[in-house]
Amino acid sequence: MLHIPFLDLKQQYRSIKPEIDHAIQSVIDECAFVGGRFVDAFESAFAAACQTKHCVGVANGTDALFLTFKALGIGPGDEVIVPANSFIASSESVSLTGARVVFADIDPRTYNIDPEQVEAQLTPATRAILAVHLYGQPVDMDPILEIARRRGLFVVEDAAQAHGAVYKGRMIGSLADAACFSFYPGKNLGAYGDGGAVVTSNDDLAARIRVLANHGRIDRYNHSTEGVNSRLDGIQAAVLNVKLAHLGEWTVRRRYHAHRYSTLLGSNNVVVPFEPNHLSAVYHLYVVRVASDGRDEFRALLQESGIATGIHYPIALPNLAAYRYLQYSTGDFPQATRASQEVVSLPIYPELTDAEVDYVCSVVYRFLSRDSVTASVGGGHSA
Ligand SMILES: *Cc1c(COP(=O)(O)O)cnc(C)c1O
Repeated sequence: MLHIPFLDLKQQYRSIKPEIDHAIQSVIDECAFVGGRFVDAFESAFAAACQTKHCVGVANGTDALFLTFKALGIGPGDEVIVPANSFIASSESVSLTGARVVFADIDPRTYNIDPEQVEAQLTPATRAILAVHLYGQPVDMDPILEIARRRGLFVVEDAAQAHGAVYKGRMIGSLADAACFSFYPGKNLGAYGDGGAVVTSNDDLAARIRVLANHGRIDRYNHSTEGVNSRLDGIQAAVLNVKLAHLGEWTVRRRYHAHRYSTLLGSNNVVVPFEPNHLSAVYHLYVVRVASDGRDEFRALLQESGIATGIHYPIALPNLAAYRYLQYSTGDFPQATRASQEVVSLPIYPELTDAEVDYVCSVVYRFLSRDSVTASVGGGHSA
């Protein structure tokens, strides 16, 4: 029996060990722990990779979002529209500014925010829309940008799962007012600790974020405002610089595995990820649907067979206890709620082999044939 973890950071480290060890040692030799040339080098390289003018390194992806909203002047009395299916950092960062989170339901095929639902949630207090490129799949940005243009709203990309993804020939990160990335170790571009960044081509916005992220500092002990301490450290930047050079080849591997899964599973009626032609997803996660009454059994069989799986996410954001105060009812977000009951994430990372992907598929087939009556895979996703 094969053992397939959900992701394998040790295997990735072994594949680039000399480069990483050298990079970390260089930071220590120079004691360039906070700021300095390693951070500058990574910021330039990452801005170029995202096709933006600026990159501001910060402490994590949640801060990247919070600082962006703050720098856009969003605060108490404002509303920001956020997809009902995401990690809590997407909505938490809005609340941290004092603004109100307003959820919008998702498109059941892409699991991303549905532009029609955004339209339905607009009020005179709406100031911004957060487009989360969930699972590494770009949001259909044109309709979102069109709504924003018409209503004078900001659009921020939450690209924490989408490093290197492409929408209509343009890099994710370059499509809206600003884009926020996380470099949490498990992300497609992951540091060896926490890290994050905001990319933008707006000079003023970049400058404001940089000041806010560093105590409102404009000079050593001169502060124009109060900010926070949220900086990318030298060791993380040096690691990220090494890994950024490999991101392209890793993304090719992720896409290759995703297409192998989709070919093998799609022909067996499993609901596999939908990838429209005009975009290139980077498969941070590879998510299939299983009828909700069979999901536990499905995961148990994979687990017994040595295959780790995940659920992203088991409770849709508006249904979390954290958002009870918004007084939504479960029926308000039918697509996100249904997705939360049906989705299963299969292992996907660059270092997987064909044999491992084939093995996962063979266990899925076993599930399908063993229990075709009560728990068919592919609960469906009709709108
Ligand atoms: C990981 C993640 C974040 C937060 O990033 P951190 O670096 O963990 O703070 C935000 N949004 C999404 C969609 C994420 O997956």
